[in-house]
Amino acid sequence: MDYTYAPGRNHLFVPGPVNIPEPVIRAMNRNNEDYRSPAVPALTKTLLEDVKKIFKTTTGTPFLIPTTGTGAWESALTNTLSPGDRTVSFLIGQFSLLWIDQQKRLGFNVDVVESDWGQGANLDILAKKLAEDTAHSIKAICIVHNETATGVTNNLATVRKLLDHYRHPALFLVDGVSSICALDFRMDEWGVDVALTGSQKALSLPTGMGIVCASPKALEATKTAKSVRVFFDWNDYLKFYKLGTYWPYTPSIQLLYGLRAALDLIFEEGLENVFARHSRLGKATRLAVEAWGLKNCTQKEEWVSDTVTAVLVPPYIDSSEIVRRAWKRYNLSLGLGLNKVAGKVFRIGHLGSLNELQLLGCLAGVEMILKDVGYPVKLGSGVAAASAYLLNTIPLIPSRI
Ligand code: PLP
Repeated sequence: MDYTYAPGRNHLFVPGPVNIPEPVIRAMNRNNEDYRSPAVPALTKTLLEDVKKIFKTTTGTPFLIPTTGTGAWESALTNTLSPGDRTVSFLIGQFSLLWIDQQKRLGFNVDVVESDWGQGANLDILAKKLAEDTAHSIKAICIVHNETATGVTNNLATVRKLLDHYRHPALFLVDGVSSICALDFRMDEWGVDVALTGSQKALSLPTGMGIVCASPKALEATKTAKSVRVFFDWNDYLKFYKLGTYWPYTPSIQLLYGLRAALDLIFEEGLENVFARHSRLGKATRLAVEAWGLKNCTQKEEWVSDTVTAVLVPPYIDSSEIVRRAWKRYNLSLGLGLNKVAGKVFRIGHLGSLNELQLLGCLAGVEMILKDVGYPVKLGSGVAAASAYLLNTIPLIPSRI
């Protein structure tokens, strides 16, 4: 059976992969090229320079790796740590859980700090661990900036403050897969040692590129890190950076041109405007959830995420049914609840190439589905709350002023 055709556009509201802008699609619609010709290194050089801007780093070294977020995690860990090294890692949802699982499988000694799903990383416990660790046995703090499964954003500035306060030399490794390029991210200011994202999230590209950025301290750590690494070895990349040819193996030419177009669009809009747009989309979504009389999975205002909202449903409703119906009936793709929150939450992704009216369409769809599944929602209530807020906050489109 062919599932692909449905009239009109698919309303893609999963928190990644996200909508790809038309200019990016067109930029990628091209033949393969010889990556050893002068053209591809010249393009790569501009990408490596410009990608640093989305991490807000001038001192970091970026790597554009043919992989996904999961591979980017592995690259961050294996290039900087040795088997047996102690990491402190926060378990707050499915993606932090998967990263912890990877750390364990790579042979690290993972000190897991667990919180309820819906809460942020427990930084009081981190403070205690750092204070106690006078021998500096902790080699890295691993934290997911934005936990995509629960819609929780962690406070990275506080992590850096704690490390500085206790003069602790641990590396600071950050998963920015559903934050970088959508939420304000300050690699240099926060002293992040490795930050990473995946192309299919806020950069609004196809899946297939892991973008990793390493601080000078992280690069130094590669010299003593004994983890086995082959495909992800940064030193192979650095060797080719020096030669000016950039690639230790074959890159996806189409993704490189796509990244060029994606960065151009982001810079044209303005990175701060991109963040402001995500902040509007996040707030509008939360206002709709409140108007529906439903609760956000995120337990405190300080952790709310501007890229994804996980909506808790009453116990008599299976949230997976909402997701199923959304796709079958309205061509609306919502995110499922994962693992511990399966059946309990559905997720509205509001990141990447997306505008306010698209979001209102999604919210209207959610209202109809809620009614379909027997939740007593007033049709239009969420859309009204969101649009009343957006009415006063949407600025003119920068390129049309
Ligand atoms: N980290 C976070 C926060 C994610 O949301 C995801 C995927 O959604 C991943 C890591 C894993 O990325 P990938 O599926 O690209 O391997």
